[in-house]
Amino acid sequence: MLDIKITKTTAPKEKPAKDAPLGFGKIFTDHMFIMNYTEGQGWHDPRIVPFQNISLSPAAMVYHYGQEMFEGLKAYKSDNDEVYLFRPDMNAKRTNNTNTRLCIPHIPEEDFVQAVKAVVDIDRDWIPTTPGTSLYIRPFIIATDEFLGVAPSNTYLFMIILSPSGAYYESGLEPVGIWIEDEYVRAVRGGMGFAKTGGNYAASLIGQVKAHNDNYSQVLWLDGVERKYIEEVGSMNIFFKIDGKVVTPMLNGSILPGITRDSTIKLCKSWGLDVEERRISVDELLEAQKNGKLEEVFGTGTAAVISPVGKLRYVDDVMLINNGEIGPLSQKLYDTMTGIQYGKLEDTFGWRVKVGE
Ligand SMILES: *Cc1c(COP(=O)(O)O)cnc(C)c1O
Repeated sequence: MLDIKITKTTAPKEKPAKDAPLGFGKIFTDHMFIMNYTEGQGWHDPRIVPFQNISLSPAAMVYHYGQEMFEGLKAYKSDNDEVYLFRPDMNAKRTNNTNTRLCIPHIPEEDFVQAVKAVVDIDRDWIPTTPGTSLYIRPFIIATDEFLGVAPSNTYLFMIILSPSGAYYESGLEPVGIWIEDEYVRAVRGGMGFAKTGGNYAASLIGQVKAHNDNYSQVLWLDGVERKYIEEVGSMNIFFKIDGKVVTPMLNGSILPGITRDSTIKLCKSWGLDVEERRISVDELLEAQKNGKLEEVFGTGTAAVISPVGKLRYVDDVMLINNGEIGPLSQKLYDTMTGIQYGKLEDTFGWRVKVGE
């Protein structure tokens, strides 16, 4: 158990109006969580303080060699004002898997979840309530030694900041166009692809710029060796419904093990669908599409939950999926997952965690 010291703000900020457009990641709440790590002492001084700037030496290691990690989850408010998290223990576990890869000290899972709950509880009045909105939670760790040598840092900061966010889809699920990147790659096996760390995103920006220049909203990455097998989308895992079966790339070390991915697999299996986690080549997709067997394509991730794909571009081929419309499986997954998250459906898997008790 962390002994969290709480300093409340004396100057609360004005909250956004009830139906103001929130967007994503631009508005921050009144408080944040911070905890320090010092070699020999471990994690110490857990505290909740007013949201504020931090001051670091320009030589702080995180600025130079990118030793940092982050997580992403959400808090949802139900119709009767209960506040829920969705499988936060999974974020805690993934934090430590990422930390191992980046030589960052582990945080006990229960401390991670306790810190998230504590800061969300303090700012629970910031959780928006219009349909589809939520409070985005961003835990992260940065290396803070003042040192230009290449080595793991001896000091770190763990912080949690909170951002009210708007509905990902303003007017119902909307299929997106996706660019299969054939030149650049995001990650390789043995690299950091399975870790949630800024470096993977830095490597992905150039592909995103290419996709946006061609009016595609997201990039689908191929494997880093043969550039032939499907990996994942920028910040989402990817699923295909091919000839009645649900197919998704297996976790091979270079893709991020999404919690929404795991939940999608469990839901599909509970509905009696065949789910295959395996290698999928672009050629297989092109073939399936030609034969009319590529029934649905969708991304999964905390931000969008389920993101139906209407169009997939690969070099000179543009595959139209399900006539550019939302498929029934995508819609059912979205309705079920959000129903559980907002407390509208029965939580048969035990995924919901209440804040404030
Ligand atoms: C966070 C993330 C995902 C989705 O993970 P969820 O736990 O479902 O939100 C997928 N891919 C990448 C690269 C990510 O960073």
